[in-house]
Amino acid sequence: TTSNRSLNFGAGPAKLPLEVLEEVQNELLSYEGSGMSIMEMSHRSKEYGKINRDAQTAVRELLNVPDNYKILFIQGGGTGAFAAVAMNLLNRTGTADYCVTGTWSSKAAKEAEKYGEVRLAFPVPKKLGKIPDQSTWTLNPDASYVYYCANETVDGVQFHFIPETNGVPLVTDMSSCIMTEQVDVSKFGCIFGGAQKNIGPAGVTVVIMREDLLGNPMKICPSVFDFTNVNKENSIHNTPATFSVYVMERVFQWIQRNGGIIAMEEQAIAKSSLLYSTIENSNNFYSCPIDRIARSKMNIPFRVGGENGDERLEKLFLKETEELRMFQLQGHRSVGGMRASLYNAVTYEDVQTLVNYMKEFQRRHEH
Ligand code: PLP
Repeated sequence: TTSNRSLNFGAGPAKLPLEVLEEVQNELLSYEGSGMSIMEMSHRSKEYGKINRDAQTAVRELLNVPDNYKILFIQGGGTGAFAAVAMNLLNRTGTADYCVTGTWSSKAAKEAEKYGEVRLAFPVPKKLGKIPDQSTWTLNPDASYVYYCANETVDGVQFHFIPETNGVPLVTDMSSCIMTEQVDVSKFGCIFGGAQKNIGPAGVTVVIMREDLLGNPMKICPSVFDFTNVNKENSIHNTPATFSVYVMERVFQWIQRNGGIIAMEEQAIAKSSLLYSTIENSNNFYSCPIDRIARSKMNIPFRVGGENGDERLEKLFLKETEELRMFQLQGHRSVGGMRASLYNAVTYEDVQTLVNYMKEFQRRHEH
């Protein structure tokens, strides 16, 4: 039943749909009457083969992935993909352009520096929370790729446009926004995203890679990160995170049953608008430091008790929300304040509950 489930606004690993958890629970001890859990079965079994195939097909259908793209499942998380992207794509020219707009793109750039030359598309903004207009960027025509993080989970900054790169392959980290809005995959050389926020448990990272960019990994690239090799082996090169892929496949089915990506996008707009408007209409009792045109629909940082936050009120806010079973609202340690993550499994009603509490809290503490 839903009654003992908490409201979970965590940034990841994050809330999964109850329906999926129940389905997994029902199948846990005996997958399709086999008397075995899926996690006890060989990754070469026909059962897992079907899950692997169905999951790939679902990604293709949900995101309208064109035929000239391959869908891969790797391990190593988003962080593993930071290195993998560099080792698979830097070989062309040895240099890449990075857009650093927050914590995760910054980490990706640092990782890539181990494998080649990283040039910044623009100076890192002194105060995060903005994306510089593309007219001010410097992109290099000889870059192997241009990299950006579509949604900065920690900082609450999201790209609401696709950068123009004049033919240079575009790579993006969609770890915290994959399958939350429609995306024109044909604009990208490579899209990757860890599953543990919108589409499943930790352990699997989805990679969508344009076929013609395969075939040129660096010699030092480990075989588990070599996209050419992983593709050749249909993502069963070595033992995959079978249970994670299985749950993810069930989440894909859940998305399909619930109206697909269009519906996820509508929900994301409705949920985030509700929270942002509550913040905006609070007379500065609540505040969000992010530039309006770069605000994330997924991760919404905000302060309580004025622009810089009131430490006492923020502590109290966290304590009371937890008493009401609203969890993981504490902002990232590097940013402070609150952060509400509104991934696919978070419902509009969940956000209404939060917003109603926020209004009530304000009435009690505003003077
Ligand atoms: N990229 C983004 C946008 C993230 O939010 C995260 C984790 O929160 C990562 C990358 C790193 O993912 P992982 O912890 O799976 O390495």
